[in-house]
Amino acid sequence: MNKQANGKMQAAQVEQFGQPLVLKQIDIPTPGPGQILVKTEACGVCHTDLHAAGGDWPLKPGLPFTPGHEGIGIVTALGDGVTAVRLGERVGVPWLYSACGHCEFCLAAQEPVCAKAQFGGYTQNGGFAEYIVADANYVAHIPAGLAARDAAPLICAGVTSYKGLKETQARPGQWVVISGIGGLGHLAVQYAKAMGLLVCAVDIDDGKLEHARRLGADAVVNAKSGANSGDPVAAVRQVTDGGAHGVLITAPSLPAFKQGVGMTRKHGCCVLVGIPPGEFPTPLFDVVANCITIRGSFVGNRRDMVEALAFAVAGKVKADIELQPLSAINSVFERLAKGEVPSRVVLDFPA
Ligand code: NAD
Ligand code: ZN
Ligand code: ZN
Repeated sequence: MNKQANGKMQAAQVEQFGQPLVLKQIDIPTPGPGQILVKTEACGVCHTDLHAAGGDWPLKPGLPFTPGHEGIGIVTALGDGVTAVRLGERVGVPWLYSACGHCEFCLAAQEPVCAKAQFGGYTQNGGFAEYIVADANYVAHIPAGLAARDAAPLICAGVTSYKGLKETQARPGQWVVISGIGGLGHLAVQYAKAMGLLVCAVDIDDGKLEHARRLGADAVVNAKSGANSGDPVAAVRQVTDGGAHGVLITAPSLPAFKQGVGMTRKHGCCVLVGIPPGEFPTPLFDVVANCITIRGSFVGNRRDMVEALAFAVAGKVKADIELQPLSAINSVFERLAKGEVPSRVVLDFPA
């Protein structure tokens, strides 16, 4: 059933936290029962991959591992018992690699918080490799008409931004702040406009803010201290006439979190999506007396994925991508860490 069982493939692996990835030839994995083998066509590089390679978070992946959770490819082999996926189909192997399907969270379509969830490119090997083994029940089904390279950023950055915006509960005509206009944020601006929201984009880089303007942002604020005449919180509160109804923080930077809470309107919701390691101070009186909600949001469920992809098929959302070969991964990581990637790098695999 698995023709490539004895072959080798190229993969970029983390062997030690904080060290460059190692490009090497490893065995092509064999799909077990319920699993599929995917030949990678494209894989986006998410800032989460940097956190993963850095060992930034309390829950650490086992070493060595292959990062990448925006992998898109063609199904080339099926393990026993697979019925939900066909050979030759184009699928995405997302961060939510699998879940138990039976706990209280899975039953409520909250599978990203399942205690038994596995994470692609983290607790399971991911898309920085020519082949990926995936769970047939949790892959994203890529609609016809969406190229692999365009789909790649949508299966993490896209679904996370879209779900995070829904979690703000901002309604059409209301303001949202999107803090961090990188891979997630440049898609969040487009989803928010398609959802009828007014967008105030916040970043520390003027180039990212100009890009947000081109994507339809109604206002932009540079959060770098000294870049504005006043402070960024005051600037946002002025533009939005009292703060945004929803705030989505994608910035992988702790100062953005306290600022984001300050940018939230009374009775508004501040959704935390960026995951820089650490904690941030919360002004309790302001949060309580203004009835502000602070909420975490972690990727999205499988239905959110279908909806997030549908915006792209409808032509309302398109990732801005820069193609690079797998062999360039370490220089891509260096640029991403410095904020020098304009939107999203997608690793392009030869057919
Ligand atoms: P990215 O590097 O592409 O973009 C980050 C952007 O934030 C850049 O434009 C940068 O200039 C900007 N920025 C940096 N400091 C800032 C500040 N103080 N204020 C405003 N903007 C600032 O990163 P990405 O791939 O978009 O990922 C962003 C974060 O989201 C990462 O921490 C990642 O791990 C996290 N993430 C979370 C989820 C989730 O499910 N919650 C999913 C994907 C990614
Ligand atoms: Zn991601
Ligand atoms: Zn579960």
